[in-house]
Amino acid sequence: MKLLREKCFIDGAWVGSDDTIAVLDPYDQSVLGTVPALSANQASKAIAAAREASASWGATTAATRASILRKMHGWVLENLEPLAQLVTAESGKPIKESRGEVRYSASFLSWFAGEAERAYGRIVPASRAGRQIQVVMQPVGPCAVITPWNFPSAMIARKVAPAIAAGCTVVCKPAEITPYSGLVWGVIAEECGLPRGVLNIVTGDPVSIGRTLTGSPIIRKVTFTGSTKVGKLLMADSAATMKRVSFELGGNAPFIVCNDASVDAAVEHAMAAKFRNAGQTCVAANRFFIHEDCHDEFVTKMVAATSKLTVGSGHEEATDVGPLINKQGAAKVRRLLSAAVDAGAEVVGGIIPENGATLIGPVVATGVTNEMPLAREEIFGPVVAIQKFADVDDVIQKANDTNYGLAAYACTHNQERIAKFSAELEYGMVGFNTGLMSTAEAPFGGLKESGLGREGGQEGIGEYLSAKYVCLQ
Ligand code: ADP
Repeated sequence: MKLLREKCFIDGAWVGSDDTIAVLDPYDQSVLGTVPALSANQASKAIAAAREASASWGATTAATRASILRKMHGWVLENLEPLAQLVTAESGKPIKESRGEVRYSASFLSWFAGEAERAYGRIVPASRAGRQIQVVMQPVGPCAVITPWNFPSAMIARKVAPAIAAGCTVVCKPAEITPYSGLVWGVIAEECGLPRGVLNIVTGDPVSIGRTLTGSPIIRKVTFTGSTKVGKLLMADSAATMKRVSFELGGNAPFIVCNDASVDAAVEHAMAAKFRNAGQTCVAANRFFIHEDCHDEFVTKMVAATSKLTVGSGHEEATDVGPLINKQGAAKVRRLLSAAVDAGAEVVGGIIPENGATLIGPVVATGVTNEMPLAREEIFGPVVAIQKFADVDDVIQKANDTNYGLAAYACTHNQERIAKFSAELEYGMVGFNTGLMSTAEAPFGGLKESGLGREGGQEGIGEYLSAKYVCLQ
């Protein structure tokens, strides 16, 4: 079965359009194919389909929804290799990481199958005699799901699985740069018996489709992963119809190494937190704060570890770091690094990438300060930007000195420090002695301008449910 689909999936049918968008391979810029640039009118048909299917899907039993999600979980795992190839083709991600991403996608399907069956309401003891207070959990209704290119499969799974579990219907718009890992969810829906209209996938101009979705009174919720800038636009556009929103936006993760930590272990965690998807993740370690006692050892070992990474095409099994998504992404990395060097930072490993290159080798820079754009903006590239610190209070202040608040990491086994970092780091997620913490059973999300709402965990399904108070006298 062909998994690369060049049509949109609306109301259970594959739909094309006259206008199309070309999809490029980030490695060599060759054209992989095209996808429809749907008109606003065509996007509205997807919204109508989601409305049409909403009542009957919302009325299915939790057992039915769980059973379909379990089928989807099995199907995704059975087709892991071709799905991973699709992710690598359009995102450039190393194939071994793409396999991990598809497995991660599957984990949300099984987790939310379980949550569908545990989305209990409750009966509250009433203060008035002869009264029963019921709290009934109902699906929010048709949802707009807008997703980015850096995890083109998983960001859809993380939203679509809880929506389906809760009894919501969906119009999903994957990123136009990586649409195929999104459109393939139409195949998954067909193969696993999801009723038509429950999941619709549309592609096209983001502004036009975005406005159609946010402007529609039928859509009751918008869930988005992407830049803070677009998140703010979508939130403003959703205000007119007072939609529910959940947003997972940018990050500026601190990675703190204390002087009690094992430097070898810290380097291992740092590599994991930095180099996944060539640093193009919202939870990527963006600012490394290393205690002065172990700073030089950490730098030496980090340079040695990064020099062993294989940079190349994502299709090669040996590749650790694939190309950045496009030339604009690479130009940003170059700009941030050049500005840092001009302001006094030093490149101690790797080189500042050449103009126009999307394949960027790892770079290690020391002498970075929190005021440099390299520390203020999300790098989204394979750059280890290192600052030195001496005092725990000072490093917490610096780590919190950002508008973002998604993930933070710290390497320490000192219980007092762990308690202090847990309490005082203004982040939605704090990982100790690990560089990888995201998992389906934990609530993922941010504070401040990193977003609203949580994906995964017990909290994840709540974003798609509305509590109705029923008073029986
Ligand atoms: P990034 O900077 O990581 O590419 P974006 O926020 O630009 O992230 O994109 C994430 C998603 O948001 C993609 O699906 C993209 O098509 C969509 N998008 C971008 N601009 C808009 C917009 N103005 N309205 C709605 N969606 C948009």
